[in-house]
Amino acid sequence: MHNMRVVVAGGAGFLGSHLCDALLERGDAVVCVDNYVTGSPDNVAHLVGRPGFELTKQDITESFVVEGDVDAVMNLASPASPKDYYELPIETLDVGSIGTRNLLELARVNDARFFMASTSEVYGDPAVHPQTEDYWGNVNPIGKRSMYDEAKRFSEALTFAYHRKHDVAIRVVRIFNTYGPRMQPDDGRVVSNFITQALRGEPLTIYGDGQQTRSFCYVADEIRGFLALLDSDETGPINIGNPGEFTMLELAELVTELTGNDAGIVFEPLPSDDPKQRKPDISQAAEKLGWEPSIELREGLTRTIEFFRTALAL
Ligand code: NAD
Ligand code: UDP
Repeated sequence: MHNMRVVVAGGAGFLGSHLCDALLERGDAVVCVDNYVTGSPDNVAHLVGRPGFELTKQDITESFVVEGDVDAVMNLASPASPKDYYELPIETLDVGSIGTRNLLELARVNDARFFMASTSEVYGDPAVHPQTEDYWGNVNPIGKRSMYDEAKRFSEALTFAYHRKHDVAIRVVRIFNTYGPRMQPDDGRVVSNFITQALRGEPLTIYGDGQQTRSFCYVADEIRGFLALLDSDETGPINIGNPGEFTMLELAELVTELTGNDAGIVFEPLPSDDPKQRKPDISQAAEKLGWEPSIELREGLTRTIEFFRTALAL
């Protein structure tokens, strides 16, 4: 199912830019739509001028049109790191509601398939471990992360409403922590923080006691999962992530080893509502999409450290 014309909202972000690369690489045309609030045109500068690639600066919460045929609409637009959505709470709720609605309308009028980038955050601080797609989650609706979690939960609900009411063909992915080249060094996420701190010879900042867990997926694996879902007949929601589970202490030790940093670790307060554990159950992705990740954390971190070394000139 290649040679589509795909609108990628949030295409100038970390994941979006890798998605634009992958779509073009397999022969699809891409209309990248982004307002650069947390992304940057630098992430897709290498694609400008390439046949089949269009770049438009547009806030998707405002009404807009895309001229010409559209075969798929992929919604990756949203502040995504906790630091970003703490700073942009209203924008995050707007893009997850009004923005998603505008893109669903774009898909509906074009009879295009709609891909929604949801998140493991819909599970909140999960009481079920590992997280399966049928778990409804444990989200604080007014907590520190609520602008993000509830925006994504609303986006999922709206996406399914368009599917049921208007028969829009939908694909909902629940993305677990993803890392790799083109992450913003200052986005405040744990992988970017640890690597930039280590490369600068500073101590790594662990929030809380470091016993909380996350599962980290390398970006190339994640994007391969997106395309497998896009091309399938599955509505989802479907978890795409790497089930390898690490404490933040283990992650800090691995980054320390791979960078040779000798500044050690410092402990800082844990932000409220920080999930204690997170690990995807990916049996649906394996069974329905034939997808599984292939890049181990050690290998992916090595590649990411190289990217940051160059980006930060360290
Ligand atoms: P990112 O911040 O790098 O990319 C998001 C992009 O959306 C940015 O380029 C930003 O400028 C754009 N954007 C935000 N609001 C917009 C608006 N109103 N109009 C147009 N563009 C807008 O983040 P990312 O890590 O690449 O995340 C991409 C998507 O994947 C997000 O929807 C995020 O919630 C989801 N996700 C990411 C992860 C992860 O680990 N990276 C995990 C779960 C879910
Ligand atoms: N974290 C940390 N040190 C940092 C940044 C984050 O210990 O410098 C912790 C954070 O409290 C959380 C985990 O690492 O428990 C993952 O944080 P991130 O912001 O990357 O993603 P999310 O919490 O959204 O999974």
